[in-house]
Formats: sequence, C-alpha cells, structure tokens
Amino acid sequence: MKKRWGSIILAIISIFLLTACSSSNKSQTITGTGNGKHGSIKVAVTFKGDSIKNIKVLEQNENKVLSKPVYKQLKDTIVAKNSTGVDVISGSTATSKGYIAAVNDAVKKAGISLKAVKIKSSSAKPKIAKTNNYDIVVVGSGGGGFAAAIEAKQAGKKVAIIEKMPTVGGNTLISGGEMNAPGNWVQKKLGIKGDSVASYYKDTMKGGDNLGDPEMVHILANNALGSAKWLRDDIHVKFINDQLFQFGGHSYKRALIPVGHTGQELVTKLNTKAKSLNIPIYVNMKAKSLIQKDGRVTGVKAQYQGKRNITFNAKKAVILTTGGFGSNVKMRTKYNKEFDQRYKSTDTAGTTGDGITMAQQVGAKLTNMKYIQTYPIANPKTGMISLLADTRFDGAILVNQNGQRFVEELERRDVISKAILKQPGSYTYQIWNDKIDGISKTKAAHKAEYDELIKEHLLYKADTINELAKDVNIDPAALSATITKVNQYAKTGNDKDFHHRAGLVSLAKGPYYIEKAVPSVHHTMGGLVINKQTQVLNTDDQVILGLYAAGELTGVIQGSNRLGGNAIADIITFGRIAGQSAGKL
Ligand SMILES: Cc1cc2nc3c(=O)[nH]c(=O)nc-3n(C[C@H](O)[C@H](O)[C@H](O)COP(=O)(O)OP(=O)(O)OC[C@H]3O[C@@H](n4cnc5c(N)ncnc54)[C@H](O)[C@@H]3O)c2cc1C
Repeated sequence: MKKRWGSIILAIISIFLLTACSSSNKSQTITGTGNGKHGSIKVAVTFKGDSIKNIKVLEQNENKVLSKPVYKQLKDTIVAKNSTGVDVISGSTATSKGYIAAVNDAVKKAGISLKAVKIKSSSAKPKIAKTNNYDIVVVGSGGGGFAAAIEAKQAGKKVAIIEKMPTVGGNTLISGGEMNAPGNWVQKKLGIKGDSVASYYKDTMKGGDNLGDPEMVHILANNALGSAKWLRDDIHVKFINDQLFQFGGHSYKRALIPVGHTGQELVTKLNTKAKSLNIPIYVNMKAKSLIQKDGRVTGVKAQYQGKRNITFNAKKAVILTTGGFGSNVKMRTKYNKEFDQRYKSTDTAGTTGDGITMAQQVGAKLTNMKYIQTYPIANPKTGMISLLADTRFDGAILVNQNGQRFVEELERRDVISKAILKQPGSYTYQIWNDKIDGISKTKAAHKAEYDELIKEHLLYKADTINELAKDVNIDPAALSATITKVNQYAKTGNDKDFHHRAGLVSLAKGPYYIEKAVPSVHHTMGGLVINKQTQVLNTDDQVILGLYAAGELTGVIQGSNRLGGNAIADIITFGRIAGQSAGKL
C-alpha cells in the first residue's frame, strides 16, 4: 500500500515538473503599446519561456530616419540582453522610450520576469581605422553637408561625411522642408505672377533688418530656383505640384513643399544619392577639433561613440556643416541672455554649435551671434514646432485668452513671438476651420501631431465658435465678436485691424480647430563669416586656408531674423557652392 502511494506521488511530481518545464519554454506572442514622439507605438513581442525572441513593430508614426536605429539596434540589444534596461538611442530619445515602454507592456501582460543576459559589447564594433585619409571631410550630415559632399564627390574628390548622432539628417530631417524659390514651376502652374529674384532679395534683406551681407543674399536669391531644380532633377526630391506656402515676411507664395510636408523627403533622397556615389558616412562620430598645420586646416580630430579617438585627414579641405546652436542653452545665453532655459527648442539634440566653436578655435570671425529666433507656434509642453499649424499661412488667426487678435498672422516670426509673450499667460491660440485646412492640407499631412495634440488637450475641434471658446475658457461673446470682424474683413479684403497681407479667410462655417501654442527657440542667425566661395574668414577678414562652411552655422545670410523657407534655400545653395569650391582644389 505504502509502495502504491509512493508511485502515485512520484507520478504527480513528474507531471507537475513536466508541465512546469513546458510552460517555462512556452512560446507566446503578446502585443504591447507605449507612447513615442508622434503618438503610440504598438509592438508584438514573441517570448519563449521568459526570454524575448523577437519584437515586431505593428503600428507607429515616428520619423522614418530617426526611428530606424530604435527598431533595429535597440531591438537587437533588448533581444540579446533579454532586458529592457538598455540605453536609449541618442537623438531618438522619445521614440526609444516609447518602444521600450511598449515592450515592457507586453512583458507585463505575459506575466513573466526577464532574466537579463550579459553580452560582450565588442561584438558589434565596426572596423574604423585610427587614421583615415580623404581629400575632403564634411562635418555634419544635414542638408548642407549632403549637398557639399555630393558636389565635391562629383568633382572627383575622395569625400567622407562624419556625423555625431546615430542617424543622419540634423534639423533638415525634422524640418518642414519648405524652400523658397522665386519664379518656380508651381507658381507658374498656379498662375502666380510678378515674383522675381529682386523681390525675393528685397524680402530677405528686409526680413533680416538689412543685416545680411548683400553680396551673399544676392547669391542666395539668384540661386534659390537652381537649388530647387537640383533637388528635383538630380536628387529626385518630390515637391507637391499644386501647393505653395507664403511664409511670414514674403511678398508672394513662393515656398515649395516636399511631399509629406517634411524634410524627411529631402534627407532620404540626399542620403540615397550619397550612397549611390559611395560617399562613406561615419555616424556616432563627433568632430572635436580641427587640425591645423602652418595656418592651413588639414583635418579633423573626432571621437567615435564618445570613446575612441579617430583622425580624419583632409588633403584638400574640411567643410563644416554642423548647423546652429538652438539646443545649447549655455551658448544661447552667452550671446543673448534672453534665451535661457525658460525657452524650449524646436531643434534636434545635435544642434549645439560645435562647428562655430571649432572654427573659432582656429581664429574664425563670428557675426550676428545675438540674433536668435523663436518659432511662434510650438507645443507648450515639448517645444516642438507645430507643422499642423501651418494653416496660419492660409488664413488661420491668432487670438489671446481674451479672444482678441493681437498681431498680423503673416508678420515675421520675431514680431509674432514678441507679441505672444506680451499676452496674458504668454501664449496664443490659433484658430482655423475646415475650409482653411482644405487649402493647407496639414491635418492629413500631420495626422500624428493632430492626434497627439488632441490627446494632450492642446487642440480642440468644435462645430461652433461658442463650443470652441468654452473648450479653452475664452469668453464666447468676445471670441464671436472677433470672428464676426474677421468674416467682414475677409469679405471686403481689408483687415482694418492688422492689415493681413494675404487677406483674411472667412471663418463663418465650422467645424473649427483651436490650438494652444508658445514660442520656442528655432533658428540661430549668427555664425561664421564666409566669402562667396564659402571659405571661412578669420578675425582679420583673411581666408583660413582649407576651411569651408555652409548652412545654419554661418552668420552672413539671414541678418537679424530668418524668413520661413529661407534656411533650406540657404543650406542647399551654399552647401553646393562649398562642395564645388573645395572640389576645385
Ligand atoms: C522643426 C523645424 C522645422 C523647420 N522647417 C523649415 C522649413 O520648412 N523651411 C526652412 O527653410 N527651414 C526650416 N527649418 C530650419 C532648417 O531646417 C535648418 O536651418 C537647416 O536644416 C539647417 O541645415 P544644416 O545643414 O545647416 O544643419 P542641420 O540640418 O542641423 O545638420 C547639422 C548636422 O551636423 C551634425 N553635427 C553637429 N555637430 C557635430 C559634430 N561636432 N560632429 C559631427 N556632426 C555634427 C548634427 O548632428 C546634424 O546632423 C526648420 C527647423 C526646424 C528645427
């Protein structure tokens, strides 16, 4: 009897062990969600027992270029370590956090606890020599850097791009990508007459309070259309063929819009072109200083992944295209105390003015450094630019908490920003209707931003002005009075209050949208002094041999204030000139 009981207990234990064993090796796929930069990220995580075997992204709206290393590198690290305790990808922090949160959500739902595995970090190290020799080294992979590298390579030079972030693109990537080009093909198609190089030059000089260098602004105005055609024909960038923007301070609708309404179209196509020309791009490679021999710049000292020192010799030239310093609070306040940490920034984390600092160390002259631009319509919580609010260029109005307009909506950015800061609470509301969205088409182009703002209670949609006012605690009677005036002015074509230069649009019919916004640091106008060939000048106005620069780190184009759509025209025009000039050496 005892023996029988013994075998029964043994059998029960074996069944239990077997079940336990098989359940710990059970395969299951569970979904999880987390919040990325542009809304939720949904993943499907496949587990075997308590190990992650695979992660598949099911739904997401993140920037294609910036999210790539998250969905590949971060995924590989999480799977290899069997842990979500991993470092975020620099420059893609919000996307990384959203992705990790989504995986954590799936882990929680699976009811398991991950046992972390130690892996050797050396296995994934790419082979980069300690010393690398090129004719031309381009520092920075935004639009300016790509344009320069492509031209230099096509001139027959051995070229490399070094980029400190894990992904290419800089501010160019996250920009609206809109680009001014007077006399462009879309103006012709839309029947917009009268625009000219002279008018564009005049607007740009006036927009910057005549502090841009006239000779350089002439080069910009003369070449902007050619630069746009180069992007269209040589780089195969697709521009929308029946829509243009008229940014503040411009006399005409002259800004071309890339498909998707962002710089992703530009950077993706520039990157493809660079790859087709076999231009190596070293990412995670931060330029630390310039090498100078007998007064001539001959290379760059860089650091790979913040650890390994790497030298890039440049037989002919170094071209700096490292962008502005909008994300560097210390540098901002060094040149203008106003722009301290109270201001968030629309810019990428890499926009820290490194090129300006490095060039200064070899004697470069700086100009216009105190001119720092805020973008008037940015997210009050994150500082991110609101591209959804580009409806402003097609008739959206700005009101304060009292429901009153306070500025012309097509004024320069600095003027609007200052006016907003003077309003109660230092914020504004932007109002538009479906009619205006039908012209600007931003709701479809920036759906992720739309959903995010609604979720964050920064944007409301309503059928009537009364409901709209109540959503944001504006006095409905005051807002109705403002809208009635706007409708009258739209009818007569005469905005008696603020002289809207493009003419107001009727807001008689809903549905309506109201978005809360604040100014955020956006562009740094100051920087290096360059000549017509983009050679960097020293404090004695002499050329620093071997050193060229183009893009936002230069200070001679935009004066005190950059007009919308002028940066892309600037970086492509002068990036190309830098590559062509250095390509002749
Ligand atoms: C949200 C947003 C929207 C915008 N929209 C528009 C628009 O629609 N139209 C317009 O005309 N302008 C727009 N702008 C402005 C415009 O995008 C920028 O001025 C322009 O793209 C700058 O180009 P760049 O090539 O000079 O620099 P960036 O594109 O910023 O590229 C610089 C690159 O250099 C890298 N780098 C920096 N330091 C180092 C270092 N030490 N070593 C190696 N690499 C380094 C950076 O990481 C970056 O990748 C916008 C800007 C923002 C932020």
